[in-house]
Formats: sequence, C-alpha cells, structure tokens
Amino acid sequence: MSYNTLNALNLTNKTVILRADLNVPAHDGVVSDFTRIDRLIPTIDYLRSHNTKIVVISHFGRPKGKVNPDYSLSFLTTVLIDRWSCPVHFSEDCIGEDAQAQIADMGEGEVMLLENLRFHGGEESNDMAFAKELAKLGDVYVNDAFSATHRAHASIDALTTLLPSAAGLLIEEELDNLQHILKTPEQPVAAVVGGAKVSTKLSLLKNLVTQVDYLILGGGMANTFLLAKDHKIGKSLAEPDMVAEAKDIMQTANDANCKIILPKDANCAKEFKAGAESATHKSSAIPDDLMVLDIGPDSIKEVSAILSECKTVIWNGPMGAFEIKPFDKGTNELAQLVAKLTKDGKVKSVAGGGDTVAALDGTDSSKDFTYISTAGGAFLEWLEGKTLPGIAALEKNKKAA
Ligand code: AMP
Repeated sequence: MSYNTLNALNLTNKTVILRADLNVPAHDGVVSDFTRIDRLIPTIDYLRSHNTKIVVISHFGRPKGKVNPDYSLSFLTTVLIDRWSCPVHFSEDCIGEDAQAQIADMGEGEVMLLENLRFHGGEESNDMAFAKELAKLGDVYVNDAFSATHRAHASIDALTTLLPSAAGLLIEEELDNLQHILKTPEQPVAAVVGGAKVSTKLSLLKNLVTQVDYLILGGGMANTFLLAKDHKIGKSLAEPDMVAEAKDIMQTANDANCKIILPKDANCAKEFKAGAESATHKSSAIPDDLMVLDIGPDSIKEVSAILSECKTVIWNGPMGAFEIKPFDKGTNELAQLVAKLTKDGKVKSVAGGGDTVAALDGTDSSKDFTYISTAGGAFLEWLEGKTLPGIAALEKNKKAA
C-alpha cells in the first residue's frame, strides 16, 4: 500500500490544513532545538509556491483536553516567522467561527498557526465530531508530523476520512530513508541501544534481536541485563522486575544468532552529579557503594571493533548519563566513530528517538550520520515493525484525493 504525496493533490489557491509536530523542546518560551520546525521548511515552501493558505495544527505537551496557558502554542508565532521566513498569524482556538473568519481574512502564502489541539479532549479520543470541526478550516489535509504518526488521534486519523489527504515532504523523506536503509539492510547490522530503562524499550529489544547481528547495550538498561547475569551492580539504576524479560531476550538472541554485547567495564561514581569523582570497574565487580554512569574504556574498545566490521548501524539511546560530564564519554566516542565510518562510506547509520539526537549532538556527530529521524516513539514503533496509525490512515484514504 502507499499513500498520496503532495503532487497528488490539487493545491493551487487552496486552503491546506497542515498537521505539524511543533511539540519542540522549550523552556520559558525559548526553543532549545529547532530541528522539527526547520525540517518542515520544504513542505512550507512547496505549499507557498502553490499560492495556498496554510493552516498549521499541532499538539504541544499534555494539557489533557483542557485549556492551559502553560501549553499554549502562541509563543511559536514569532519563531515560525523567523524560521519559515513568511507571515504567520495565530488563532486562539483550533476550531470554531473565529478561527474560520481569521483564515478567510488571511492572504495566500501566509500561515495561520492554531492553538494546541490537545486543549480539546476530542483530539486524543480520535473524535469524529472534533475532526469535522477541524475539516471546516480547509480544503485539503496534509500530514507532515512523522513524529506523531504513532498516535491515532483526530488530527492524524479521523481527519483523513474527511478531506483529500496526503503526506508532506518530511513524512515522505522519513519513510523513504528508513525503508531504504533498514528494510533490507547491508549486513552485518549492529543496533546500539541505550537509555534509562528496559521497560520502555522492551518490544524494540525483542524485535531487534531477531533482526540484527549485534545488539550493543549501554546506559541504565544494560544494568538490568548485568543483573540477569548475576552480576552485582552496586547502587546502579536497574529494574529488578525486568530481569526475567532480560533473560528471555538473551535466549531469543541466542536462538536467532544475535550477539548481545554488554559493557565489559563501566565508569562509576558515588552520585549522579556533574564532575563527580569517578573510576573504572569491571562490570562483574561493581563496588556496593557505586553506581554505573557510563560504559568504560574496554567496552568502548570492544564496541568500536565490532562497529568497524558492520555495514549498518541503528542507534537509539545514550550509552550513559550523557548530560553530565564525564559520563558523556562513551556516547561521544562511539558517536564520533559511527560518524567517521559513515563519512568514509563504510557504514550506513540511522539514529532517532527521544534523547538520542541531543546525545549525539554533544560532539556534533549527527550531521555525518546517513539519516537522523525527527521522531521518538514513531521511530521506535517503526523499528518494531508496528503499523503507524497515521500512515495507515493516509494509505486507507488515498482514494479520497
Ligand atoms: P531514554 O529516554 O530511555 O533514552 O533514557 C535517556 C536517559 O537515560 C538520559 O537522561 C540518561 O542520563 C539516562 N541514563 C543513561 N545511562 C544511565 C545510567 N547508567 N544511569 C542512570 N541514568 C542513565
């Protein structure tokens, strides 16, 4: 199955409802990472070149169906004017007569940013009546919120049944790249998976061990696997109730000929604090009063040798507590290696998910990866082989265009 792309729609002089993901990292109205905003520029430019009016809809945070000024999207108006280099207006509700009137009044080539979709409960409940209100705001619907396609919400799912629909250029780029690099990857394939917990990535791990040659584990989640191997891990972050699952994953990996690489050694400290006094210990002998905060030098050496033999690398999650020095070392050194291997044409590399891009950017390595996904949850669900509801909705309603 496939979905419509922008060239399937008759766009000229139309009003386009564009589902974007403007759920960007921001504190006190200051955006700390513009990636999701900037990667919408090709779609914005394409739509403007067809003299459309662009109605941008998005969620922001989790206001849970209630109006809450802390989650207003209004602060992004000036940011979008700057990043997208076009006139951007703001409407205080994402549905209703006022929004409709403001859209009617604006000029072609201009953008109307609507208030947070999640101020209405109908968004998350995929309510058709709410979707019908949204549909009144435009002639055609474009979804370019790849990072929200794992949610069957009204602006992602129900709305596709009401208007001619297509994927925007970012969704097209994301899926083309993920499919091209990872559907039939060049082997051997290594997945580098880190981050805090096993529980949040359980289905990812279960799926990966049946697909890849090496599963390289780091971060807090590796501690749970060390526990499953009866290692003492001192005061380290771990999930003892996930030990049985970790054992299961190790068995599945063994049956599938996938090698799980656990850290041989670790950089440990007494407390989770920048500049904390740290020392390297073997993973089999972590002192009782210390916690593992990063992979150690022998692990970096072992993993580097494996990655240098691989043709494809998938990366999700940091190898340690990368936000605080010196525990960013394992993540940084491996990220730099993957970036170099990619630059030298030796591997294809894809990274995505949550904190991953921020972690890789500690050394500015991500620019040399073959592809960086803008998505967190949707990237992981795609890797797990799950159907993304937002993409399925576009495919199902292809005929509507
Ligand atoms: P995730 O969102 O699951 O990818 O987890 C990312 C978080 O895991 C980051 O905030 C890291 O600081 C944290 N993390 C990674 N390794 C460790 C560790 N060994 N101990 C505690 N936290 C860790």
